[in-house]
Amino acid sequence: MNEVILVINAGSSSIKFSLISSHAEFNILYHGKFENMSDSPCLTIFNENNVQVLKKNISSKSNDSALQTFFNWFEELADSMKLKAVGHRVVHGGMHFNEPTVVTDDVMLKIENLIPLAPLHQPHNLEAIKTIKKIYPKLMQVACFDTTFHRTKERLATIFAIPKSLSEEGIVRYGFHGISFEFIASVMSKYIDELKHARVIVAHLGNGASMCAMYQGKSVATTMGLTALDGLMMGTRCGAIDPGVLLYLLQDKHYTVKQLEHLLYNESGLLGVSGISHDVRELLLSADANAKEAIELFCYRAALELGSLVAALKGCDALIFTAGIGENSAFIRKKICERLTWLGIQIDDEANIKNSPVISKNGSQIIVSVIPANEEYMIAKHTLSVVEHTQMHPVTGQS
Ligand code: ADP
Repeated sequence: MNEVILVINAGSSSIKFSLISSHAEFNILYHGKFENMSDSPCLTIFNENNVQVLKKNISSKSNDSALQTFFNWFEELADSMKLKAVGHRVVHGGMHFNEPTVVTDDVMLKIENLIPLAPLHQPHNLEAIKTIKKIYPKLMQVACFDTTFHRTKERLATIFAIPKSLSEEGIVRYGFHGISFEFIASVMSKYIDELKHARVIVAHLGNGASMCAMYQGKSVATTMGLTALDGLMMGTRCGAIDPGVLLYLLQDKHYTVKQLEHLLYNESGLLGVSGISHDVRELLLSADANAKEAIELFCYRAALELGSLVAALKGCDALIFTAGIGENSAFIRKKICERLTWLGIQIDDEANIKNSPVISKNGSQIIVSVIPANEEYMIAKHTLSVVEHTQMHPVTGQS
């Protein structure tokens, strides 16, 4: 019987999942998502050959009934597959979590306490955990945090220039997308063998976007901070902004805190600047001047943030693009790289159009690469190793 890990990535409007074989290569056997959770929820499941095997509208909008529909389908396969554990992407691990962790009541409480620092993701991560606990109380669930990869950053790359007492309370730069960066660190030398010990900057450009400066595969600096708002311009998030803007909006424009939160997380970024869409594909097809400006600003801000990471790394040997935009948009990659010719970057247009693993010219001083993200693999691997560790140390699950 095939033992599988269920990997869950629960977001505000969708829950993505993969059933991954716990043997050998961690192959994805099925994957799918629940979409339109707040409107008319729909579950779609694809097999390992990307053939759709189920599409089902769900009558209730609750996560409970959505996940129950999935488990009903899963149980029909129960003869061929046994669920070993569930691995969750959890966005914020704060100061508490330095590694993937078995979910207990105490862990759930700590995850809940971090909701204000990741309001777009954390409540949904927690809700999925609670729902599965209700359905399968004995099933092991493991939380994999997006923040833990960045715990190797030195202090200067971690603290804000605010009073020390606040830094000591945990108001520091955590950084996110760590599971994606960790995956890239683990595979980059397969793509480009000299990268193992190099100074590498990874640009995770999806709806959420951040960059990580890595030395010998470890995080040295990153563009996101206490929350996933800082740094690059994103789909609907503003990225780095003068904090004086926030004070002005609160004091003089009389925004409430909730309105401000909504503005920064949901109404800004590509959507806010274009007034059209958060989706790069839609903006690239539009002839509207605002769409063009939004794309220009996205690339300008990305090049600027990259420059600051080059300073943190004291140089750069390679730039790797990943995630939805980074993997698929040759246009955006070229636009960003055109702003980086001063670093000696030269793009090979033909390789770039094909999304090839190496898109820089032979003579480029920095290797530029495209590597597909695979957070699911990383979560499955961590989950399995936590399960095996816990089997060897059954009392606490800790070493
Ligand atoms: P997230 O996981 O953060 O929700 P993704 O990594 O799926 O985001 O990336 C979503 C973004 O990728 C969207 O802005 C979308 O427009 C962009 N994207 C996906 N495919 C393409 C493509 N072929 N060309 C340009 N952009 C693309």
